[in-house]
Amino acid sequence: MTSLKAITFDLDDTLWDNSGVMARTETGHYGWLLEALPPWLAERRWPQWALSHEDGLQDYLQRRQRIAAEVPERRGDFTWLRLRALEAQLEAHGLPRSAAQLWAAAAMNEFHRLRVQVTPHPEAADLLTALGQRYRLAAITNGNIHLKRQPLAGYFSVAIAAGELLTPKPDPKAFLTALARLNVAPEHAMHVGDSWEEDVLPAQQLGMHAVWISETCVDALPEGVYQIAHIKELPGVLNALKAPY
Ligand SMILES: [Mg+2]
Repeated sequence: MTSLKAITFDLDDTLWDNSGVMARTETGHYGWLLEALPPWLAERRWPQWALSHEDGLQDYLQRRQRIAAEVPERRGDFTWLRLRALEAQLEAHGLPRSAAQLWAAAAMNEFHRLRVQVTPHPEAADLLTALGQRYRLAAITNGNIHLKRQPLAGYFSVAIAAGELLTPKPDPKAFLTALARLNVAPEHAMHVGDSWEEDVLPAQQLGMHAVWISETCVDALPEGVYQIAHIKELPGVLNALKAPY
């Protein structure tokens, strides 16, 4: 029997499908800014905002990419990158620095409100409830979803935002930090995620069991790596390992 004591989970595209949420969040928080800002500018008799939604989003993306290249240690800290890019865009289009900071922060508040509106896979809550009775559970994400406000937050005793640690996955630091907080050695832990590069490889290299959520066809998997198409199949992996479920 495998003495499995802890399971760590990636979040986006592991416990929920993230694609629609990101698109809605991206256009939603920027749209909110372009709706809220003009009346505020008009009240002060300041010049009106000149960028369209489309041009503004494009400029915002380019600014994020530029800042990430200039400050590579922050490349995975998406909230920081977005804040700095929004501030820079607002300042470049005429707002004083203090007002740019205020509006960038307000837009990011809206970003986080939209970003947590993910819909976990219907099986996720029951699965985590059952696993939580036998294993210590952690979340490790490269994304910038608010870890305390995300809908499955209550199931994890440890939650790590790897980008904000300045060591996004596949850097092993987020895994090691989670394992240290769970007080579990890598060989007694399993990581579950959808990315081969960011989830499976680093976990496997640390000596953790790794479960890859993917429909990609592969001939053979390295030792200690298991593949499933959906999180609901995780109990099957635990059964195969003779780990209790
Ligand atoms: Mg993922």
